[in-house]
Parts: sequence; structure tokens; C-alpha cells
Amino acid sequence: MLKPTTFSASPYSIDQIQLFQGADQAIVRKLVAPCPIIHVGQGQPLTHATRALFIVLRGALSVATDFRTNTTDGSVSKILPGESVGEQTVVDEEANLSAITALEDSDVLAIDAGTVWKLIDESNGMARNLLRLMSFRIRAANAQLRRRQKVGEFYRQMSMVDGLTGLYNRAWLNELLPQMVGQAHGVEQPLSLIMVDLDHFKKFNDSHGHLAGDQALRAAAQAISNALRPSDFAVRYGGEEMMVLLPDTGADVAVVVAERLCDRIRNSVVFHDMRLPMPHLTASLGVASLAEGQDEQALIASADAALYRAKEAGRNRVVAA
Ligand code: GH3
Ligand code: MG
Ligand code: MG
Repeated sequence: MLKPTTFSASPYSIDQIQLFQGADQAIVRKLVAPCPIIHVGQGQPLTHATRALFIVLRGALSVATDFRTNTTDGSVSKILPGESVGEQTVVDEEANLSAITALEDSDVLAIDAGTVWKLIDESNGMARNLLRLMSFRIRAANAQLRRRQKVGEFYRQMSMVDGLTGLYNRAWLNELLPQMVGQAHGVEQPLSLIMVDLDHFKKFNDSHGHLAGDQALRAAAQAISNALRPSDFAVRYGGEEMMVLLPDTGADVAVVVAERLCDRIRNSVVFHDMRLPMPHLTASLGVASLAEGQDEQALIASADAALYRAKEAGRNRVVAA
């Protein structure tokens, strides 16, 4: 940085400065005259010993909001000639932790906090501009926060959904199943779980190819989703295994639902192209209902054991625990 000059000794004029638009020129010129102009080289940080309001006279500054003081991470704005930065720091006396760097060789007017307050006291126009500017900044920050919350929620939900089938995934199950089990025990309502495993799926892949296997998985998931009530949940448990959760549903009804799923999967259309051979897609299903004192792991193990018996008994069928 070169040795600073004062505003009065510089070629710049207050007319171009946003904050002083419509303010009493004589008062502003008098107060700003001794304020230093800092020369910041391209890529250099703007450093200043005391709290101050900075106004770009030439060049451009980049302001990166500090993540420690802000929920917005890494937000960067560009400050052009006539614009200012650091108003809030001067007004609320909090340290400014934003990183300010010069995007090109810049001249920056530094108005120290004492002078800013004097300007506010003596110039209504400047005070009004400052209020308007800060109100604008707050609105912009709020809008950005809302956008980020929406994006965050979107990704949170996306991370709970399986990309291939559109069913919920294991992350969702790990979060929700313990809650559902707790709830069922708490209000003494039934909860049933159906484990679905596609039959001979390795062979399916071998004969039709892996892409066709993916298509079959999607078709099975679709068949399951279409056969459920809105209060039920379908999850891709892993590979070609899916799980259905039936809140407020006892064992008898759960078996009826499982039989329906078994039929729908058997009849699901995997390829819409009639020239392709009709693939044989079936599933085996194990049904379990929450028993007294049972936790989610025991419930899953019970449905798994029933599924194993369905496989042993010849597949393409439902067995209840
Ligand atoms: P079983 O009737 O005993 O369940 O036989 P299986 O062949 O279905 O069982 P196994 O567990 O031996 O094989 C599961 C197969 O499922 C192997 C694996 O390649 C396939 N698979 C798992 N996930 C996917 C997937 O996302 N896409 C495709 N195309 N295949 C998958
Ligand atoms: Mg299988
Ligand atoms: Mg399997």
C-alpha cells in the first residue's frame, strides 16, 4: 500500500458517492476532507487499523462474508465506484470479519466511525441514505437466507430418497423407523413391516442385462408404490430388497397387503417395448408385526426370517412371521 492521501487533496468528488446523494454538500465536504484515501493493489486485502466505512472511488472491491458471523457461507459481493462497505460495522460497533480484497487497483475512502456519526448527526440526507442502504442490505441477506434454507431442505429430502427407484432409502429408514416403532408402542397401535426381495434377480440380470435389471427394479418399486395407501411407506432396503412400513396396521391386514404386492409385482410391465421378450419377475415377501417390547431391529429380523421361509418354500409368495 502507498502512503494515504486525504480526500481534499485527491481529484475525487463527493457527487459520485451514493451515500451523499441529496445530502448537504458543504457539511459533507467539510467532514470528509481530512479522511484518508487508501490505495489497494489488485488482489491485495484492504486492511485498516480502526473501524471505518469504506467507499470505493476507483476500481472494485470484493467482500466475502465471514462464515463465523453469518449463516450464509462464502457469500461474495462486488463493490463498485460510488458504493460503500462496512456501514453495519460502524453502526453496531461489532468487528467486521468480512474479507475485503481489491479486484483491481483501487482507491478507497476510509471514513472513521467518529466522522460517520458526525455525518449522521449533521446531515439528514446522509442519515436517510444510510438507513435506506442498510435496510436494503438486511432484505438482501434475508432473501439469501431463505433461498439457502430452501436449497438445504431440498437436498435433505433428496438425500433421503433412492435415486434409482424413487423410494425412501436407508438413511430415511434409520431416521424414521425408530420413531415409528416408538410411536406405535407409545399409543399402543399396531405397526407392520413387509420385506420384499426379488426372486432370482441375479439370473434376471444375467439373462436380460444389468440395465434391464434396473428397469425391473423400477417397475417393481412402482408396482409397490401404486398399491399402497398414502400413510404407508416404501423403502429401498438395499440391492433388490425393498421394505414396506404399514403404520396402524395389524398382521392380518398386512398379509392381505403383501399378497396384493406379490400379485402386482408378478404382473408388472418391465418393458413397454412389445418386441422384447416378456421377462419373468416375481418377489418373495416376509411379513412381521410389532410385538410388545420389540425394537426395530427385532421387527426387521422377524420379517427377514419370514422372507427366508418364503424363499425356501419356492419363492413368489408371502409368508407371515
Ligand atoms: P433370490 O431369489 O434368492 O433372492 O436370488 P437372487 O439372485 O435375487 O439373490 P442374490 O442376493 O444372489 O442376488 C441379488 C442380485 O440383485 C445380484 C445383484 O446384481 C442384483 N442387484 C442388486 N441391486 C441391483 C441394482 O441396483 N440393479 C440391478 N440391475 N441389479 C441389482
Ligand atoms: Mg433376490
Ligand atoms: Mg436379496
